[in-house]
Amino acid sequence: MGVMTVLGEIPVDKLGVTQMHEHILANADFEHNDQNMVIDEVDVAIEEIRSFKAAGGDTIVEHSCEGLGQDIVGLKEVSQKSGVHVVASTGYYRECSYPNYVTKETDKQLARRLVKNLTEGIEGTGIRPGILAEIATEYGVGKMSTTEEKVFISVAHAQVETGVPVSTHCWAGELAFDQIKLLTSNGVPPEKILIGHLAVDNGVKDRILRIADKGVYLGIDCIGFEYESVVGMKDRDKAHFVRELVDRGFLERIMISQDLMRKLYLKYYHGPGYDYLLLRFVPILLDEGLSRKEIDTMLMANPKTIFS
Ligand SMILES: [Zn+2]
Repeated sequence: MGVMTVLGEIPVDKLGVTQMHEHILANADFEHNDQNMVIDEVDVAIEEIRSFKAAGGDTIVEHSCEGLGQDIVGLKEVSQKSGVHVVASTGYYRECSYPNYVTKETDKQLARRLVKNLTEGIEGTGIRPGILAEIATEYGVGKMSTTEEKVFISVAHAQVETGVPVSTHCWAGELAFDQIKLLTSNGVPPEKILIGHLAVDNGVKDRILRIADKGVYLGIDCIGFEYESVVGMKDRDKAHFVRELVDRGFLERIMISQDLMRKLYLKYYHGPGYDYLLLRFVPILLDEGLSRKEIDTMLMANPKTIFS
């Protein structure tokens, strides 16, 4: 079975070097007062993604679902003009971004929408997503809301029906056990789940190790967020943590990615750009003692496995 990209299905062997959690065209300005949270210029995006390609990148898994300003036609153009495979998403992000119908409909109805997107394409374009993402829970509230639970159940139903992976937003892994329980108890295999944002806080490493014991993929992302005050873990800390995870036998479960979703992180706006991970973070990993082979496992073999 292949992987669905915005240009059609490709064999998993063609994925190559893959960043599993990114945004290319997105709008996360939920309060309508921060243009930094809007990346919606297709021409700029094409140049940005070309730089990823030039650095050796092959595939980007794009996590901007319906409530996150998805531009599926724009993604197709970016893929065509950059030569990079783009896997698009369908799903629901944070509760503040849910489309209006989410609160009203049942989990079964929501699942039907997701399956329709995955099998027929987004909004009549015929362009099909290849992943359920990025399914979020809120940070700092201690538990999932009933609507979030409904969304996770609907995502589980859609996963079981279609077989695509599920990628979540789980800041510092706070509600990871609830996310995993809701998904697996509704039939999703742990090896189809990627829990996102697990390398943002040096104080919760023990929790991340317990999440790893669940057999899910570990999203070591937000790489290149050095200047973001909300991320306590610097890139050097993240590389060191990757080393620790590998030492504990979790190499086959690590996914490294940038989760770039800020204008000021684009090269066009003098930011690091999408080639930061390959050009600047990989050398830090090597410096931490990881081998090229181990890095290839994280960037190539693991993405291939979750889509297989
Ligand atoms: Zn994201």
